[in-house]
Amino acid sequence: MKDCKEIILCKYGEIVLKGLNRGYFESLLIKELQKRLKGCGAFRVYSEQSTAYVEPLDGDADVDLALERAKTVFGFVTVTKACVVEKKIEAILDAARNYIPQALGGVRTFKAEAKRSDKTFPLKSPEISALVGGAVLEAMPKLKVDVNAPEAVVRVEIREFGAYLHAGAEKAAGGIPTGSAGKALLLLSGGIDSPVAGYMMAKRGCVVEALHFESIPYTSEQAKEKVMQLAREVTVYTGDMKVAVISLTKIQEELVRSCEEEYFTLLLRRFMMRLAQRVAARDGALALITGESLGQVASQTMQALAVTDAAVSLPVFRPCIGMDKEEIIRISRKIGTFDTSILPYEDCCTVFTPKHPKTRPELEKVLAQEAKLDIKALEDEAFDTLNYRWVSYYK
Ligand code: ATP
Ligand code: MG
Repeated sequence: MKDCKEIILCKYGEIVLKGLNRGYFESLLIKELQKRLKGCGAFRVYSEQSTAYVEPLDGDADVDLALERAKTVFGFVTVTKACVVEKKIEAILDAARNYIPQALGGVRTFKAEAKRSDKTFPLKSPEISALVGGAVLEAMPKLKVDVNAPEAVVRVEIREFGAYLHAGAEKAAGGIPTGSAGKALLLLSGGIDSPVAGYMMAKRGCVVEALHFESIPYTSEQAKEKVMQLAREVTVYTGDMKVAVISLTKIQEELVRSCEEEYFTLLLRRFMMRLAQRVAARDGALALITGESLGQVASQTMQALAVTDAAVSLPVFRPCIGMDKEEIIRISRKIGTFDTSILPYEDCCTVFTPKHPKTRPELEKVLAQEAKLDIKALEDEAFDTLNYRWVSYYK
């Protein structure tokens, strides 16, 4: 339909429930949406009645790209392209005949549903639905109406600024707006689980920053670049990300020299947590995020997790803890990190893996191993290697 002006409608999810805080959540949401639209052309973004409107300002604005980007902003439950028409029934029916067929694609059954928030519009919702349904059938005579289980729903919304027609909304990212929950630091390895963990906490409103531990020469430059690539892929959902990198080389060498092999992994994980807590304090993060799933490997038993957590006082978020590997992989494919995660580079955790790691460690015994080390000096030295990178998928 040549003269149809397209706009994007993004429907709010949970923030509708936020009562007095709603204005704050809404402003975060709109700010994040505007950031994601960079590079898509000129748009006007405004919100009304639990919906954000994304309106192209000229013919160069890429509406399809903007739609894809809007789908990744946490806080919206659905997004859709819609045709904006004058609030006159003739114009609405014209759009139903000319715009809706291409938007419906190959579906066989549909129903039309009208919603009229502008009560001055002369026809009532059921009347509008019937007329619009008829107009769609005129244009697509093979289509059948099915009011109970239609493959598509053609919606007409008569709102204050105009009438909007679309052929059914797509599911968006869900969750609550980025930044509404404060900042958290993700311990990011090159595996499958931690990128998923970061995505999940961003979905609950965290600003996610990452920390990666390398162990050159035991780990390679490519292994680090793989992690940067993972972080970049996660930014599709989290927004641009700061990634801290710390070297654990000295610590690992010292563990091999001074401690019993069966405790290596646990001791290393406790160093990671303490160093992460320092980075968090420096950068204002209020929690740590890791990717463990209960019972997945020796260091992910309840006892091992308790020993790991005892090293720090910050809350540790583990959103994958109750998920099967299969479920984690499904999310990792959905967010686009899986193919990078399975590239075969070593991680520092796998470098000096004990043959028989302790699966039911006792904290006192771990502390006895740590007593052989100058923890503070080792940590200070590692912390001195801290450096930062910024990653962004769209730059
Ligand atoms: P992943 O798939 O995320 O690598 P995993 O199942 O391999 O997890 P572990 O190797 O036991 O599990 O690591 C547990 C968690 O510790 C990871 O999910 C991650 O949050 C953190 N972690 C492990 N290695 C590193 C690393 N080199 N840098 C930063 N964090 C790490
Ligand atoms: Mg791993």
